[in-house]
Amino acid sequence: MHRYNQLLELYRSKDELRQWLCKPFNFNGNTCASNASAIVILPFIGTHPDMSEKISPIYPTERNTAVKFSLNSLKWAYDKSPMIEAPCDCTGKCNYCNGIGEVPYEHLYEGSYVFTDGDCPQCDGLGRIDLDVKPDENGEIPDMLALVEIEGYYIPITRIYELIRTCEILECDTINLVHTGNNLLFSLGNVEIVVAHSTSESSPYCKIESEVK
Ligand SMILES: [Zn+2]
Repeated sequence: MHRYNQLLELYRSKDELRQWLCKPFNFNGNTCASNASAIVILPFIGTHPDMSEKISPIYPTERNTAVKFSLNSLKWAYDKSPMIEAPCDCTGKCNYCNGIGEVPYEHLYEGSYVFTDGDCPQCDGLGRIDLDVKPDENGEIPDMLALVEIEGYYIPITRIYELIRTCEILECDTINLVHTGNNLLFSLGNVEIVVAHSTSESSPYCKIESEVK
């Protein structure tokens, strides 16, 4: 059960503007969590609100492929991801406002420029940014929006990160891709993950090869 709770925490939305996604929900007799781009589906039912009406149209009912990917190939793609400057240091302190949460805004008042403090636009006034992946010694993090190609579909590296964590939590070395189409469906034992692929025109920076069947 502890592993399942870790998965629910990994996949639930942290965006408070999408309240219903911040907590687990039920779908067709399963407990799920979703960040709007991926859904983890666990093989038990809890006392959660039922969202079957919302999830049913997204959930692939057919299994049209059977391809395996190794955890190592996911990690290889993740390790190759382009790096970008992190918005915070390794303790989470916002780089833009130096952890203060406020920055001076310059504006015109009765003919002269004045400065007033306002919420930092990068951390929304919190002074902190909690990243899942902490910045490295160069103050850089993987570009989580960079795209990876998998069976002809493009998905952002943030989804690869989630799949790596899912394998690690469930102690699995391989993950199965069982459906491709409007969404991708991965399975690990009796846990399933629906993943939205990108419709962006950008090119992927690498391609993950499936294991030889
Ligand atoms: Zn800030």
